[in-house]
Amino acid sequence: MTETKPVSPLPSVDRVMHGPQAEVLCVAYGRSAVVDAVRAALAQLRAERTSKAKADGAADADKVLSLAAVSLAARATPALKPVINLTGTVLHTNLGRALLSEEAAERVAMVARSACNLEFDLGSGERGERDALVEELLIELTGAEAATVVNNNAAAVLLVLAALAEGREVVVSRGELIEIGGAFRIPDVMRSANVRLVEVGTTNRTHAKDYLEAIGPDTALLMKVHTSNYKIVGFTAEVAERELAEIAQRNKLPLAIDLGAGSLIDLEAFGLPKEPIVRDTLAAGVDIVTFSGDKLLGGPQAGLIVGKKDLIQRISRHPLKRALRVSKLTLAALEATLLAYRSPDFLRRDLPTLRLLTRAQDEIQALAERLKPHLAAALGDGWQVAVTSVASQVGSGSLPLDELPSAALALTPVSKSSAAPQRLLAALRALPTPIIGRVGDGSVILDLRCLEDEPLFLAQMQELARVKLKA
Ligand SMILES: *Cc1c(COP(=O)(O)O)cnc(C)c1O
Repeated sequence: MTETKPVSPLPSVDRVMHGPQAEVLCVAYGRSAVVDAVRAALAQLRAERTSKAKADGAADADKVLSLAAVSLAARATPALKPVINLTGTVLHTNLGRALLSEEAAERVAMVARSACNLEFDLGSGERGERDALVEELLIELTGAEAATVVNNNAAAVLLVLAALAEGREVVVSRGELIEIGGAFRIPDVMRSANVRLVEVGTTNRTHAKDYLEAIGPDTALLMKVHTSNYKIVGFTAEVAERELAEIAQRNKLPLAIDLGAGSLIDLEAFGLPKEPIVRDTLAAGVDIVTFSGDKLLGGPQAGLIVGKKDLIQRISRHPLKRALRVSKLTLAALEATLLAYRSPDFLRRDLPTLRLLTRAQDEIQALAERLKPHLAAALGDGWQVAVTSVASQVGSGSLPLDELPSAALALTPVSKSSAAPQRLLAALRALPTPIIGRVGDGSVILDLRCLEDEPLFLAQMQELARVKLKA
């Protein structure tokens, strides 16, 4: 006869729910959620008993409640949360791209909580146009005749194609049939918009005569795509915007350009590499320009479409526009961002994207020196911590070949273990406010260009010190 320990029966739901600690949970989460969590905890304990793994585990009401409390807390925690971007890529698509200005974030919070004049003309008391809220600003900042806004630049391109060329032909250079991160391929977008793609030229060279030969009775639109995320160097040729605009005009066709990032200002004046300016592109005779709200503009995710009035009208009246329109939250953030451009002297101060892109290397270096001892203390003996020069990236496909001189902390395992850096990256990601770095040359590299909240970082170092890290 084998001896088995007597197993106490599991408490009932009622018993667990009667007690001051259950009451505390009920105040935080509501009774029904707590009852559900208690039932789930009891089921878990029952399953563990039948699997005999923990058959002798005591299971009183306290144990059930503490299990329930852990799962209630976990389920109440949002999955989307702030992280500290130390990847060195300022406009990181996977990390949410541009950071909004304080003003923009406040405007979002304000209209989020309140009714607002989204589509309501306060003068006449009649229905208004939501795009009208930012159209004047976009006209002023780009020199366009009219403007409209959709959810992102991919949507902007789709809508322009559908509205101006549905069922007809669009002429594009082969060198511009690009893929942008997240499987956005220009040829696929064209198919979705139900337009026929006519490719001209070759990958590295496209000439004016290539466009001229491709134009036929079924051509509806000439399109140019700013190949922002890669560069072809060497024996290349492309047709300049001005020349292409003349070709379009002579053939009574509209010319649309997808600028991708597109800047409202001259970034060279801020010591940054050159990037096409929307105003210049329009001034070159281009009829329609599309660009992103959350790349160099430094605003919310949005797709901006600016250009000739009659074309913008056709675009904004297309049925797809209704499906792609932006919310009041987007418009609030976009308007506040655009308003910042009316005070160019304060742009660097007020727009995080511009502030981070133009941050001086010696300032980042000084920050690295300040943080170095804290990191060394948190990591302990197993790691070497050094300040090193690195190159940050603009990101989001903009300015691919140009890098921004920056400074980083390089964390190298004394053991030279090749697995240790990946383990440290994972530990950094598991912090309450996750820190996102990268591995380079056997070290964890934390590029500090985008770190502005030093206390938040130091608080994470305290947490890191508690985690036992194998180097
Ligand atoms: C980034 C980019 C897009 C897509 O813009 P989203 O705002 O991410 O939708 C389209 N075209 C070009 C050239 C781009 O660089």
